[in-house]
Amino acid sequence: LNRRLAPFGTTIFAEMSALAARTGSINLGQGFPDTDGPAEIAEAASRAVLTGLGNQYPPGPGVPELRAAVAAHQQRFYGLSYDPDTEVLITAGATEAIAAALLALLEPGDEVIALEPYYDSYAACIAMAGAVRVPVTLRPHAGAFTLDLDELRAAVTPRTRLLLLNTPHNPTGTVLTPAELAAVAELAVERDLLVVTDEVYEHLVFEGAHTPLAGLPGMRERTVCISSAGKTFSFTGWKVGWVTAPPELLTAVRSAKQFLTYVASGPFQYAIAEALALPDAYYDTFRADLTAKRDLLADGLAAAGFEVFRPRGTYFITTDITPLGEKDGLAFCRSLPERCGVVAIPNQVFYDDKAAGASLVRWAFCKKTEVLQEAVARLRRL
Ligand code: PMP
Ligand code: GLN
Repeated sequence: LNRRLAPFGTTIFAEMSALAARTGSINLGQGFPDTDGPAEIAEAASRAVLTGLGNQYPPGPGVPELRAAVAAHQQRFYGLSYDPDTEVLITAGATEAIAAALLALLEPGDEVIALEPYYDSYAACIAMAGAVRVPVTLRPHAGAFTLDLDELRAAVTPRTRLLLLNTPHNPTGTVLTPAELAAVAELAVERDLLVVTDEVYEHLVFEGAHTPLAGLPGMRERTVCISSAGKTFSFTGWKVGWVTAPPELLTAVRSAKQFLTYVASGPFQYAIAEALALPDAYYDTFRADLTAKRDLLADGLAAAGFEVFRPRGTYFITTDITPLGEKDGLAFCRSLPERCGVVAIPNQVFYDDKAAGASLVRWAFCKKTEVLQEAVARLRRL
């Protein structure tokens, strides 16, 4: 393994899901729902396979139906207009979109500012691009993890090429406020930075509404926006993601993407085109269901003695284990299956500043109510 990748080892999600399977534990670690998305969308995928839609290589940028549906979604929810032919690219999940964007836009040695804790593929992809990550740490303040705008400003140097943002934010559940987004946009314009925004949890904002960064003044022309069907439609295994960006940036990302997978998920692309057009009731019910589950798990974790950071978005809750007399989240998560049959994710793997994340542990609540109830009952016996 080369020096760029050697530090990354095996992703924590694989380690913890394997641990859950081996021990028969309740898996609140890796973020995937235990109930599939709408049956009509599964049927659309099956129909696509059986009628020969997408069984052979679809067009590299994605099937026209899905590119049109993504553009229509950006218009419908955010009033943003993107040309499906020149400004939309379909990818193998958000993961490929992140990789392609970073590989296409970074020169070796460029600095990338990323909010810490960061989703684990960010650091690996920045490294694969030969670039340097510069973390800006979200810190606990009044029950949430917040961005210090002065720290963000101070992190920009003449070598900074790109801001890599994620809102709603995994793993903290932070949703950047309109004032924070405005400050980020102002900084990006002032220092002429590109912005890559990972908005895969755009439909999981529990208080307030999601604001795409591309909608702020001066941002459309410098923003590569990434999202995915995995979270919104509960089909994480289909790996259908997308990028919206102005033509020049989109073309750059496409140049990298064509040599990563060329194209993926043919029949599923047609099904997700239908999913994006589902009525508002689908999106509202999805959010309401997860709001109730957030509250169930947050209250249960608090009752079990954890310090709980109730998320404003995503399907994850970050807790601090210090009140339980524990210090090290990684050791805690590795021992938890044996102690009570539950699996979680240690946030420290998403930090360069290991001390900042040492005692934090993340729990996924995209699970059946009875599964969450059983997990809470087990954790209360800790
Ligand atoms: N970004 C974030 C913040 C995520 O949490 C995830 C995955 N869960 C991804 C990207 C990857 O999404 P996909 O499964 O579509 O590749
Ligand atoms: N994004 C999911 C999470 O944060 C996991 C995705 C993966 O396994 N790579 O749990």
